[in-house]
Amino acid sequence: MLAKGWVRTKRGNKQIKFIALNDGSTINNIQIVANTELLDEELLKKVTTGASLAVKGKLEASVGSGQAVEIQASEIEVLGECDPMRFPLQKKDTTLEYLRTVAHMRLRTNTFGAVLRIRNAMAFAIHKFFNEKGFVYLHTPLITESDAEGAGDMFQVTTMDLKNIPLDKKGNVDFSKDFFGKKTSLTVSGQLEGELGATAVGEIYTFGPTFRAENSNTPRHLAEFWMIEPEMAFYDINDNMELAEEFVKYLVQYALDNCMDDLKFLNDKYDDGLIARMQSVIGIPFQKVTYTEAVEILEKAIADGIKFEYPVHWGTDFQSEHERYLVEKHFQKPVILIDFPKDIKAFYMKQNEDGRTVRGMDVLFPKIGEIIGGSEREASLEKLEQRIDELGMSRKNLEWYIDTRRYGSVPHSGFGLGFERLLLFVTGMANIRDVIPFPRTPKNAEF
Ligand code: ATP
Ligand code: MN
Repeated sequence: MLAKGWVRTKRGNKQIKFIALNDGSTINNIQIVANTELLDEELLKKVTTGASLAVKGKLEASVGSGQAVEIQASEIEVLGECDPMRFPLQKKDTTLEYLRTVAHMRLRTNTFGAVLRIRNAMAFAIHKFFNEKGFVYLHTPLITESDAEGAGDMFQVTTMDLKNIPLDKKGNVDFSKDFFGKKTSLTVSGQLEGELGATAVGEIYTFGPTFRAENSNTPRHLAEFWMIEPEMAFYDINDNMELAEEFVKYLVQYALDNCMDDLKFLNDKYDDGLIARMQSVIGIPFQKVTYTEAVEILEKAIADGIKFEYPVHWGTDFQSEHERYLVEKHFQKPVILIDFPKDIKAFYMKQNEDGRTVRGMDVLFPKIGEIIGGSEREASLEKLEQRIDELGMSRKNLEWYIDTRRYGSVPHSGFGLGFERLLLFVTGMANIRDVIPFPRTPKNAEF
């Protein structure tokens, strides 16, 4: 048989060499047995860690422990040599921090091979899940004039000469001279356009790159990440929660069913609670709790001596330490938080009768905190317009969105799952930079 791949390790003695070869399709190497009686010694010297080989030989049951089969090499061709003195993965230092400094080569490691294969499996499972439910995959624009979250942390897109920006008579930037004739940015969410799709074909999802220029250098934030955003007509908040729970459970189960070799590797190497944690979220219903109840729980925890870095009182947004306390200590299962103060949530969320909360929902996971954010959307034209005005937002730029409430408005809901947050959960990696092949973070956009 013929095997091709990269050398992971070579060991043995003068007469016989054992080469661990890997082609990237699995975490498991194939053992190549190379006998110097059959093979040229000068050639075998070129078989070093990182070199690429084509090996011909017989596949046989292995006498050694650790592998069921091995290839007795009759012919080895070194396709590409790899200088052991310079190869960056040859070093003893294989910490994730070090690997980030050689990010262009780190994909060759066992760790990133495992992460990339799991990432691929999850992307496939996401499409499979929605496809089986009859959702339409909707492609929302990456370049947009809308700021879905109203947060203003967007990357501007322009072809204007930054050294010679056209100004209007008042001295403001004249965007009519820009490529699109208006101010545009990279999208922070496909939701608003998603609502146009959902109110036309019923159930849609988006799955694409998302950009946020928030300068938060945390292990859970990227400037460029991927988001899955289902949006469903005729769903209320309860239907929405049910779908979110079914969806993440399906994905975790899919990883357990299809990626076990890689999961075992990551479990042994980085996080010995990984597989148990994944199994634990599948078996139980998620805990539903209102924001107001959660504040009471956290206030009681503080009264009992628990220390948080950030304060909690009704009206504040929870930090990940609070989310993790609720999930890991208090309830010991995933939590769905609902009914948030309207002032910490976006304008489009459905307003509750109490006049101060909205029908938002956040799904919180162990080790991660928020993995999903969503809501039932405000379906009433009057209430939506009133909220837009209250927040001092421009109605003019949102007329296209408001039209969904003018013409055949329906109750509808949706949510956004951060793809890399999901991957943190199903790989056990601690830093979001290690679950995306080419991370973009403040001051870092290599390659
Ligand atoms: P957080 O409070 O954790 O910053 P958010 O409330 O700003 O998140 P949403 O606007 O609700 O996030 O976005 C939906 C989902 O997208 C989040 O639940 C999270 O999984 C993911 N997400 C948001 N911002 C980022 C980011 N900068 N990098 C990676 N994933 C993100
Ligand atoms: Mn959120």
